[in-house]
Amino acid sequence: MSRAVIALGANLGDRGSTLRAAARAIAAVPGVRPVASSREVESVALTVEGLDPSKPRYRNAVVVVDTDLAPQALLDALHRIEDEHGRTREVRWGDRTLDLDVVAIDDLRLDTATLTVPHPRAGERAFVLAPWVDADPEAVLPGVGRVADLLEAIGDDTERVDEPRLFEQHERGSAA
Ligand code: AMP
Repeated sequence: MSRAVIALGANLGDRGSTLRAAARAIAAVPGVRPVASSREVESVALTVEGLDPSKPRYRNAVVVVDTDLAPQALLDALHRIEDEHGRTREVRWGDRTLDLDVVAIDDLRLDTATLTVPHPRAGERAFVLAPWVDADPEAVLPGVGRVADLLEAIGDDTERVDEPRLFEQHERGSAA
């Protein structure tokens, strides 16, 4: 059993609904058990050229799960969820409305052709660190340091969205 941290992001379509549906889908993957989740944050889109305020803003969140799946099997499951939830008819077919990244798996250091863990840019991104520390205030980025300290060092440029945590919304939904 390992503990995995997964980052969710969306900047097209109904972003909040997409993140909630993705969190539900992650929790429903066989061999995955939900542990903790963040609230959503919003931030300016980050492109290869840098921050782009002309692009739709991003919603991001983080979920923490326990899993029996091997790292690559977990990533494969996330890719299937991206394919199922990450496309919308309102925009050009094929635009991705959902991005799922493996941020960390326990203290594991892994670098294969398809999977690098911890995610190499996680420590530089407030939209990953802020929801991660919201989900787990004591979180540590393996090999780097406390997530709360990293966030303070880079500065938090995200805005908290006033909604319940992703898995709480999931539980409410399934209890109804
Ligand atoms: P993107 O289109 O930005 O989501 O990039 C997805 C690609 O990054 C996939 O083909 C993955 O194989 C690769 N990748 C490498 N490390 C990771 C990671 N930690 N989490 C998610 N994708 C990863």
